[in-house]
Amino acid sequence: MSSESALPFLPFALPEIGEEEIAEVVDTLRSGWVTTGPKAKRFEQAFADFLGDSGLHCIAVNSATAGLHLALEAIGIGPGDEVITTTHTFTATAEVVRYLGADVKLVDIDPATLNIDLDQVEAAIGPKTRAIIPVHYAGLAVDMIRLLDIARRHGLRVVEDAAHALPTTLERELIGTLGSDATVFSFYANKTMTTGEGGMLVTRNAELAARAKVMRLHGINRDAFDRFTAKTPSWYYEIVAPGFKYNLTDIAAALGLHQLKRLPAFQARREAIAQRYLAELKDLPLILPPQAQAGDTHSWHLFVLRLRDDAPVSRDAFIERMFALGIGCSVHYVPLHQHPYWRERYDLTPAMFPHSQKAYEATVSIPLYTAMTDADVARVIAAVRQSLS
Ligand SMILES: *Cc1c(COP(=O)(O)O)cnc(C)c1O
Repeated sequence: MSSESALPFLPFALPEIGEEEIAEVVDTLRSGWVTTGPKAKRFEQAFADFLGDSGLHCIAVNSATAGLHLALEAIGIGPGDEVITTTHTFTATAEVVRYLGADVKLVDIDPATLNIDLDQVEAAIGPKTRAIIPVHYAGLAVDMIRLLDIARRHGLRVVEDAAHALPTTLERELIGTLGSDATVFSFYANKTMTTGEGGMLVTRNAELAARAKVMRLHGINRDAFDRFTAKTPSWYYEIVAPGFKYNLTDIAAALGLHQLKRLPAFQARREAIAQRYLAELKDLPLILPPQAQAGDTHSWHLFVLRLRDDAPVSRDAFIERMFALGIGCSVHYVPLHQHPYWRERYDLTPAMFPHSQKAYEATVSIPLYTAMTDADVARVIAAVRQSLS
């Protein structure tokens, strides 16, 4: 134990930024064009190429939260509407519904996958329901085939919170290409690729894309502008709505261009670490995370352990022991029904979400990121063993 604690602290998450990213950012700074410009455009094109579907519009934004807000705004969510999502998520998934004056209907999770329970989704649909926001928790795909079928039968829109799901596949199709109304990815610092802060809104719907582009930048109508560029002076523009300030800078896009190129290698590294955890932790009193179906990709944004009821320590004590051994851990998530704002607004109790509550009380996320060395991975495994002894 003394030799373990002599090692430097291993943080829960770290980005991997290479020399190419740094050179591209420096190039942007020297170019004189630091806000949204040619690199943001190139990044959008590269993202569409990565998804491999020429029918997709990719709209770079300054966060996934912004992208979710724009997507819901573009499909017309507003006061009197209800949007269904999982309680087992980050507050951003749900807060965007409230930005628009609509209400959130939280539902429980499937205890096997920790993804939104689709029976509960169906049971929660009422006369005010307009949309569903599934979250591909930890990077494991929600059964979108069934979810899209539910949505179709009830006339609902679907916006995927894919903050964890880059790259994730379902039946060999990448999340982002599956036929929901919109999919939103996050490039926050701890996600599978990063631009510091950033996100991408992806949609097949040209009208939705046009609205999101207008609202991304102050409600400036670029189409009206472009139509008259031959005649209109370059200083002229028209405001068609009270839009937002959600554009991605070229400084951030410069990072994104190179992070995206490295994404397949990043995913392979995450997969290798996850497989090592799965193999070397399987004899312990833990519920290990489910894997993707054969042939499919799990992004492994998170590696979420659950302490079994027969584990010799509580979850909280386990995390304290891990920290004492120099290993950072986290919990994903304190479910929304437990936070004062959501609890009080909708009179929520833990008993309404038994699977999420039980998962919350037992879960701990251990470090899994590409900058970890094999020795770091071994250290985490040894610390998990020791913390459970
Ligand atoms: C990170 C995250 C978000 C928000 O992403 P930002 O880019 O930070 O806005 C939304 N939903 C989930 C599930 C997340 O993990």
